[in-house]
Amino acid sequence: MPKAKYKEHRIGDRELSPESLMMGYGYDPMLSEGAAKCPIFQTSTFVFPNAEAGKAYFQLAYGLREASPGEEFGLIYSRLNNPDLEILEDRLALWDGAAAGAVFASGMAAIATALFAYLRPGDALVFSEPLYGGTEHFIRHVLPEFGITPVGFMAGQALADVADDVRARVGAHRTPVVYIETPANPTNAMIDIAALAAVARTLEGNGARPVLMVDNTFLGPLWQHPLKHGADLVIYSATKFIGGHSDLVAGAVLGSSEAMAPVRALRTFMGTMADAWTGWLLMRSMETLKMRMTAMMKNARYCADFLNDHPKVRRVHYLGLLGEDDPQFATYRKQCMGPGSLIAFEVEGGEEAAFRFLNALKLVKLAVSLGGTESLAEHPGSMTHADVPPDEQVRMGITSGLVRLSVGVEHYEDLIADLGQALDAV
Ligand SMILES: *Cc1c(COP(=O)(O)O)cnc(C)c1O
Repeated sequence: MPKAKYKEHRIGDRELSPESLMMGYGYDPMLSEGAAKCPIFQTSTFVFPNAEAGKAYFQLAYGLREASPGEEFGLIYSRLNNPDLEILEDRLALWDGAAAGAVFASGMAAIATALFAYLRPGDALVFSEPLYGGTEHFIRHVLPEFGITPVGFMAGQALADVADDVRARVGAHRTPVVYIETPANPTNAMIDIAALAAVARTLEGNGARPVLMVDNTFLGPLWQHPLKHGADLVIYSATKFIGGHSDLVAGAVLGSSEAMAPVRALRTFMGTMADAWTGWLLMRSMETLKMRMTAMMKNARYCADFLNDHPKVRRVHYLGLLGEDDPQFATYRKQCMGPGSLIAFEVEGGEEAAFRFLNALKLVKLAVSLGGTESLAEHPGSMTHADVPPDEQVRMGITSGLVRLSVGVEHYEDLIADLGQALDAV
């Protein structure tokens, strides 16, 4: 098995780190004319060596028999598998310590496929708020048309209160999924994943063991590893940090082989997988993932300190600024390896002041999305979270002066100069 050599992640006793494995893991150059880098397998279909092999591949793909020891899935058709996606999935799984992964055409494709894989008409879905706007819309407006009852709870709320309230509202519904985002977008409110996993288990009596899904787009895959704290599936918009250059749209779901099986199966039949070119771009991006995320986090710390001291800024939500007396601090210390590079802050003077600030920015671009090499700023109340009714926005801490800033890899003094001159214009 030549492939095994390329899945080695030890040198003697030393377990190699993901960043060291991103350049070659899972790829055998001798299967591709010696090409040092994995080529783009721009093909829809794969030639079988003989009819017997084709039969054997399909038996595995359709679960008609168990794989024999060491047997790998044969390549069939790019909706089922493709080398760029398989190698990418192997590499992506390393960061979170996952056994299996699947990449998708977008974060929303990943989220929708994972939810549909587990939910059935008549079920309840427990979820945290606020969520990414697209996910929120999907849960509140699309899933109910399929007979699914959404049961939301506020991120940052004490979990003891959440448990009673959620149990009362779920009633006798089967609850196969608990879906959360932590830290929450855009306020950085935290949820204790391990404690929530315990709450989720108490819903098991209704006929399904809830699968705890965590959208880890904001801190992952570097600064938070939900699977290590009791989550069953970790979900990404790979459009953000993993892609990291604001030039592609993709998503991913990772977890144990067992938890991933229904997600992978449904991906095949919904056709929500990523294409080979996107897979190749993501592999290229992941070679610099740690460098980028580390540089962005360092820059964000400087920017957060600057904003925090500025007289025209009322409040800064940044994990790196959480005080030890903050009830969120213990969760942050237990669950996160770093504060990441997303900052939300309130400009004094509401929407008008926030718009003046955004319009005056020169280096930072006014755009939604996040996690790319360039810094981006937006106004959640009227942009990413415009769909959330005004009273709910207030409840979630999305105030009219709130600006979200995704800090990139520029020189931090240039960023501070830009933020400063834009605040002068307010
Ligand atoms: C962007 C985003 C998504 C959706 O991902 P797409 O790639 O845009 O489909 C989901 N969750 C979070 C937290 C996001 O930031």
